[in-house]
Amino acid sequence: MFMTRDHQAEKHKRTETAPMRPDTANYDVLLVGAGLANSMIAIALRQARPELSIALVDRDAQIGGNHTWSFHSSDVNKAGLELLRPMLEAQWPSQEIRFPRLKRVLDTGYNSMTSDRLHAAVIQTPGIDVMLSAPVARVEHDGIELGSGRHIAGRCVIDGRGAVPTNALALGYQKFVGLELELDEPHGMSRPIIMDATVPQYDGYRFVYTLPFSSTRILVEDTYYSDGPELDSDLLSERALKYANAKGWRVGTVLRQEQGVLPITLAGDIKAFWSEGETGAARSGMRACLFHPTTGYSLPDAVLLAQRISESNAFDTSKIDHLVRHHSTRSWQQRSFFRLLNRMLFLAARGEERRDILERFYSLPTPLIERFYAARITSADKVRILLGRPPLPIPRAISHMSESQAMATVLQRAHGRSNG
Ligand SMILES: Cc1cc2nc3c(=O)[nH]c(=O)nc-3n(C[C@H](O)[C@H](O)[C@H](O)COP(=O)(O)OP(=O)(O)OC[C@H]3O[C@@H](n4cnc5c(N)ncnc54)[C@H](O)[C@@H]3O)c2cc1C
Repeated sequence: MFMTRDHQAEKHKRTETAPMRPDTANYDVLLVGAGLANSMIAIALRQARPELSIALVDRDAQIGGNHTWSFHSSDVNKAGLELLRPMLEAQWPSQEIRFPRLKRVLDTGYNSMTSDRLHAAVIQTPGIDVMLSAPVARVEHDGIELGSGRHIAGRCVIDGRGAVPTNALALGYQKFVGLELELDEPHGMSRPIIMDATVPQYDGYRFVYTLPFSSTRILVEDTYYSDGPELDSDLLSERALKYANAKGWRVGTVLRQEQGVLPITLAGDIKAFWSEGETGAARSGMRACLFHPTTGYSLPDAVLLAQRISESNAFDTSKIDHLVRHHSTRSWQQRSFFRLLNRMLFLAARGEERRDILERFYSLPTPLIERFYAARITSADKVRILLGRPPLPIPRAISHMSESQAMATVLQRAHGRSNG
């Protein structure tokens, strides 16, 4: 679907075969994929550089797919929070974690934004030409070709079409199915539980995540830190419902279901990552390896990249490509400690030790936990995380220190899984 700002209200009625205004087929900034990262870039750029013409193209009929994106208030800077504010579905002043031996309330704000709100925010921002139901067949440094064969030119082309399979990263997975439920009676919850790990453990480390959007509307997400990406959505949605029943919540309606398999980086080669699948275009979001190594979450990185790009003076593909590569490579280097911890969690830990490691982590001071989620930990934080009673035998932990060794181990495991 092609849409100019004059026709935004009709967005769901039009298709990509609708005639395109010839004068809009050439843009200063052409954003390929209207997901989280490119939508944030579009909105931030409109605010900072209103003189630029911007187009956002997606194969789906809805901007941002089907997601609830959440983040800690400390994950983004003040300007970032302002950028996100119109899109927030809910904000809570605190959050909770539950483990067998540790129950704790963290006085860190928590926020959620939905695809619907992102969609509305983009549509309501004047000056962004949105083309939906428009699959992109080819991306180049100076334009794109749609599935229909139509070409659209761009001075700066940014490819944000989401994650692609890669051999350059050794991964574990955070995978989940979330059900948004309307209950017959109030659930009595006042804040999110970001990890309820008191549940029976399967497939690595399991926890349930709950977001109480209203007194009777709640998102219940059955979540796993697993070695493999396979997701049995029926089984996980059954477990999410079982959790709700065990809490005594009477489910009236399942309003919505979402699911995800997010990458957790154990090791990798960032140079090799960037040399895979070169199209000549710049990249954003998961496609630019911009996500938190331990959660697979990308909202804070998406906001930061949007801010960086909107501060740039040079809008051509090669300049923005250079900016994003540099930013992604630097982030990768600065986050090596997270990959080390992930190796402890995914490679060195056995049985229920994964849960023990996380339980110990959540006993640490709140500011450290906040810096961890914001991927801004200090050297002192690293020492603090490693100090004390180790949840793993030291020789086993040491045997997984090496990043290159981990690459080989994980690739071998993945090969084993695919062979049966
Ligand atoms: C269900 C779910 C919940 C998540 N929750 C959180 C969370 O709470 N917090 C957080 O920080 N992260 C979360 N994440 C992780 C991450 O933030 C999201 O995956 C995020 O959407 C990634 O952003 P992106 O822009 O890189 O890719 P996406 O948002 O996936 O956007 C890619 C876009 O490209 C489009 N596209 C792909 N191919 C083509 C094509 N050929 N032509 C045209 N368009 C195309 C897709 O339709 C899509 O709209 C979640 C992920 C999932 C799946």
